[in-house]
Amino acid sequence: MPDHVIAIDQGTTSSRAIVFDRSGRIVSVGQLEHEQILPKPGWVEHDPVEIWRNVQEVVGVALSRATLTRHDIAAVGITNQRETAVVWDRRTGEPVYNAIVWQDTRTQDIVDRLAADGGVERFKEVVGLPLATYFSGTKIAWILENVPGAREKAEAGDLLFGTTDCWVLWNLTGGVDGGVHATDVTNASRTMFMDLRTFEWRDDILEAFGVPRSMLPEIRSSSEVYGTAHGSQLLRETPVAGILGDQQAATFGQAAFARGESKNTYGTGCFVIVNTGEEIVHSGNGLLTTVGYKLGDQPAHYALEGSIAVTGSLVQWLRDQLGIIGSAAEAETLAASVEDSGGVYFVPAFSGLFAPYWRPDARGAIVGLTRFATKAHIARAALEATAFQTREVLDAVRADAGVQLPELKVDGGMTANAGLMQFQADILGVDVVRPVVAETTALGAAYAAGLAVGFWTGLDELAANWHEGRRWSPALDEDERERRMRLWRKAVTKSMDWVDDDVR
Ligand code: ADP
Repeated sequence: MPDHVIAIDQGTTSSRAIVFDRSGRIVSVGQLEHEQILPKPGWVEHDPVEIWRNVQEVVGVALSRATLTRHDIAAVGITNQRETAVVWDRRTGEPVYNAIVWQDTRTQDIVDRLAADGGVERFKEVVGLPLATYFSGTKIAWILENVPGAREKAEAGDLLFGTTDCWVLWNLTGGVDGGVHATDVTNASRTMFMDLRTFEWRDDILEAFGVPRSMLPEIRSSSEVYGTAHGSQLLRETPVAGILGDQQAATFGQAAFARGESKNTYGTGCFVIVNTGEEIVHSGNGLLTTVGYKLGDQPAHYALEGSIAVTGSLVQWLRDQLGIIGSAAEAETLAASVEDSGGVYFVPAFSGLFAPYWRPDARGAIVGLTRFATKAHIARAALEATAFQTREVLDAVRADAGVQLPELKVDGGMTANAGLMQFQADILGVDVVRPVVAETTALGAAYAAGLAVGFWTGLDELAANWHEGRRWSPALDEDERERRMRLWRKAVTKSMDWVDDDVR
């Protein structure tokens, strides 16, 4: 009887494979970063072939570090960077272009063209999302419009689209040799093409985008057996039984199964998700409406989401582009070397501003600079930006849902930064709580897969696996908290209206 589940976490910066035991503890990890391809300002690409190669390698590493084989694995779960679009040839398995990553803003012209008739909220009632470069739809349209021969091939039925969950699933289950072309409802809900009520692709929207329906994967639930890993692979014959987009997976891994429960994940970007149960709630405050999870043929749970594009990637930028720190962890030491940000505010609107503003015309701004400011103040302002942006999203949640969150469950790489987590509690005025297993993204995918094959009995068993690891309580007085928020909001206004006909 297999005693483990493996999750493949195909993330923005790396691919990981993590083996979990029955109590939801990590047994072993394999991880490989992949190249961030940045051909022009605003363009971000990944090589799907490199991603698939890395996925296979990290699975091997995770299994061998735990001295396990496929016979010890009950099921495979997949979680993924969402929205990132891969288009490939179904006959050769070759991508026709690099994956266009969720952060990529090259499709703004396509957004503007579609919004000319009905505005950016044209499809929001049906799909829960405003028109934005962020979602997969315009990325697919760009490939069809710009890659020579792609449109003809797509119309002949030779091209397939998938987010990276779908790309991994197709390859894992055989690729050109009978690979399963499917995705789950959470990933489908980020394309702009799926009707939130019926979980079906909408022909009218596909037509507006010029995307043939034959390219699209079948939409399945988040927890069911999609197929088994193919012949020659390490995991051969193991059922692939769970798929959740990374943020939904983290919510599931945090055991936020019930209406009103929430989490914030601090990675490349930050993503707050609030479970709204079986109700579709439309936001009046810049939040997205999305699918939280759907287990087999049970009713779906929906969610409100606040997406913040740049948080951890700002720390990477300090390291790689500015060179003021040698590692992400050094950001904490540098920031802690000064008492506060010295009046400096850093608005990292590198891809415009996402929630709650949705302003593609914004660009990054460091304001409040005086001769006094040092690199330590800039590092501190960069970290604080994460906390301010999260507070603004939670204010939007409060306004939409009319509830005050009692505390915030957190996870993701940046939660290693205790100084930031303390500042987050200070600026929110509520406790911030991190579970023992902070790898909630992979854990959520493992849970979805394990549930489908009966490895775990139900949600109660999973909820009992959640244990508090660390808690931060607010220590800043309210006047100071609100003063900092007021200055932050003022800084945000300075980043707006930058992009115009002269600046893209
Ligand atoms: P993703 O899954 O989006 O790739 P992770 O959850 O692995 O992201 O988190 C990695 C991010 O966290 C990176 O952007 C990195 O810069 C940031 N990070 C990691 N450690 C720290 C730290 N100690 N302080 C601040 N940021 C950190």
